[in-house]
Amino acid sequence: KCHNELVRLKGNIRVFCRVRPMCQEEAESDSKNMVTFDPDDDAVLYLSNKGKLMTFELDKVFPPQATQEEVFQEVQSLVTSCIDGYNVCIFAYGQTGSGKTYTMEGIPEDPGINQRALRLLFSEVSEKKPDWDYNITVSMVEIYNETLRNLLGDNPSEKLDIKMCPDGSGQLYVPGLTEFTVESVEDINKVRPAIVSSVICIFLFSCTNLNEHSSRSHALLIITVVGFNSSTGHRTSGKLNLVDLAGSERIAKSGAEGSRLREAQCINKSLSALGDVINALRSRHSHVPFRNSRLTYLLQDSLSGDSKTLMVVQVSPLDSNISESVCSLKFAQRVR
Ligand code: ADP
Ligand code: MG
Repeated sequence: KCHNELVRLKGNIRVFCRVRPMCQEEAESDSKNMVTFDPDDDAVLYLSNKGKLMTFELDKVFPPQATQEEVFQEVQSLVTSCIDGYNVCIFAYGQTGSGKTYTMEGIPEDPGINQRALRLLFSEVSEKKPDWDYNITVSMVEIYNETLRNLLGDNPSEKLDIKMCPDGSGQLYVPGLTEFTVESVEDINKVRPAIVSSVICIFLFSCTNLNEHSSRSHALLIITVVGFNSSTGHRTSGKLNLVDLAGSERIAKSGAEGSRLREAQCINKSLSALGDVINALRSRHSHVPFRNSRLTYLLQDSLSGDSKTLMVVQVSPLDSNISESVCSLKFAQRVR
């Protein structure tokens, strides 16, 4: 088992599954739980679907009772590898209501991966390593209907572009993207996506429900860690991309029209583009279709080469969500 863990850790792409608990209301209703676990194997999950038991194998499965701390323990080494210059992506995938935001952002009393990662990175680089100086910056981007917005900027209506660096390095950058330098632990508390994004939500989309908007957009927290060794002149640069993806649920074909239809098409396009890219990287295809969506294009540097990717597939345990849970786990199998 130990050996297997090691082999998995060395792979570039890992897929976890986290099953959210039933809330009190659901537990008290006549909803049924469709998910079971293997007490001897924390990489297996069973779904009971139309009277049949489906088995899914992943790199790790978190049952509903798993804490934020336990989840973070499993991603810690991935997070700190960006101090050594690796680029890392962590995605939360799943239907709306499956726990993506809980896993990434968490709740104020119990923060998720985003806050924990920033804290850990900050404390790791603050521990004096002789001669090394580090700079941590944070950017936040929202992708809605294939349009990028600068969540930490002053002007929420400004759209951002992705450009190729003119130096011929093939590196991409986003002109005008706000980078906030984290200089103290207190600064970390200022990085609160929901607040910024609610402003955007109200001003731009005249929507009253933040959750409704956020479930149709991808929210990215991009942490850059640049290190400089003053005695050797050696530089490192790593990036950690923490992505709360738009809800993966299929919108009923008949119901959606106008802007809802366009939203659904954009989400569909970018999530399948992400699946295609990860699949192509995993199979070592020579052509990786990064350009098929803004999301994969923006993350190109952080998905290719010796980058590390983790997909956390979120699942609801409810019988009423079973077909979406099956779809999410099929996506998981496809990228694994
Ligand atoms: P999503 O972002 O996928 O739409 P949310 O993260 O908003 O889903 O989760 C839906 C609800 O379930 C929220 O009220 C959230 O607090 C709760 N929830 C999700 N995962 C957990 C968990 N692991 N433990 C406790 N509550 C959770
Ligand atoms: Mg959410």
